[in-house]
Amino acid sequence: MPLLEKMIPFNKPALIGNEIELIRDAISSGKISGNGKYTNLCQDLLNKRYGFSKTLLTTSCTDALEMAAILLNLREGDEVIMPSYTFVSTANAFILRGARVIFVDSEDSNPNMDPQKIREAITPKTKAVVIVHYAGFACDMDAIMEIVRSNGLYLVEDAAQAIDNYFIGRNGEQIPLGSFGHVSAFSFHETKNVNCGEGGALVINDKDLHTRSEIIWEKGTNRSSFFRGEVDKYGWVDIGSSFLPSELNAAFLYAQLQNIEKIQDKRKALYNRYAAALSGLKDRVSLTYEPAYSTNNAHIFYILCADLAERTELISFLKSNNILSVFHYLPLHSSPYYDGKQQNRDLPNALKFSERLVRLPLFFELSEEEVDYIVSCILNFYKK
Ligand SMILES: *Cc1c(COP(=O)(O)O)cnc(C)c1O
Repeated sequence: MPLLEKMIPFNKPALIGNEIELIRDAISSGKISGNGKYTNLCQDLLNKRYGFSKTLLTTSCTDALEMAAILLNLREGDEVIMPSYTFVSTANAFILRGARVIFVDSEDSNPNMDPQKIREAITPKTKAVVIVHYAGFACDMDAIMEIVRSNGLYLVEDAAQAIDNYFIGRNGEQIPLGSFGHVSAFSFHETKNVNCGEGGALVINDKDLHTRSEIIWEKGTNRSSFFRGEVDKYGWVDIGSSFLPSELNAAFLYAQLQNIEKIQDKRKALYNRYAAALSGLKDRVSLTYEPAYSTNNAHIFYILCADLAERTELISFLKSNNILSVFHYLPLHSSPYYDGKQQNRDLPNALKFSERLVRLPLFFELSEEEVDYIVSCILNFYKK
């Protein structure tokens, strides 16, 4: 008999409490389309907190990545390097522009891309490298910055999971993730630490891309400059699309961003509770890998099982105890859409994380008692 009556979900979107109040305020202002008061408040908060020079809210991280691909002028004939172990949106954004995606392997220790594998994949056609900070943990940015600079490549950070996390530089300085790429994409999907249901942001660190980023964001028009009084009429000047979230989403998001420390403190406490309580299992399984050059934003807590069979058993054992745990990505290089376009290159580490990684429930409203219960079930499973 399970100890709990109720299923512990894998995720529940964080709710801070004053979301409704801010949405009501947005409605009463009489303007609820995009690029209004709350959009600006969110963008300013992100710029100030992380030192970004420009941030544009988008309707999703997927949209932010699609904007990035347009902004960097990627097209047919261009090659874009990215990990195979990632979400489909990382790849789709560039495929939609006609670019060719070159999937490379993860590091042996963790799902982030192996810098050496990036080096080996570069050809004269390579235009950009897209990195994913898996579970929010920083990629090896010293190595990656050296690669993109010495080869004159664009760097895009898919920082969907990496809000409020930092790379630790050689002198101990903490550099916010999202500030390395020419452009960087964040997600505020309900499964992420800070959310508004569906939402995202594109950070534009390369100042030469600032003006055009606003045009692409505003459907190919120079509407933003017009409203700042910089041009006397606005019109269609480039390609673009509708990437702006409504003020209702932005108001919800602003409530969350204002309380980011409260959200993060809670998540980190839960993460640390898992890590401490499961540390005794270290000769049976690997726990979430924490690179020495990264801080931890407690986005995901995962276990790496011995093999696929063990993981399948563990997930079903937890489910029989009313706990929902989930695996993560299927490698994109061997997916039905891409299989055959990848010249049959094996990516063993991507396959390993695909078969062996399991994520445990981790969300703002999860209680310490629930973590203790989940831990006791896992310890029971491995006692066998
Ligand atoms: C969540 C996620 C996305 C997509 O984010 P949306 O906001 O849902 O579009 C993209 N890449 C990664 C790595 C993600 O985790």
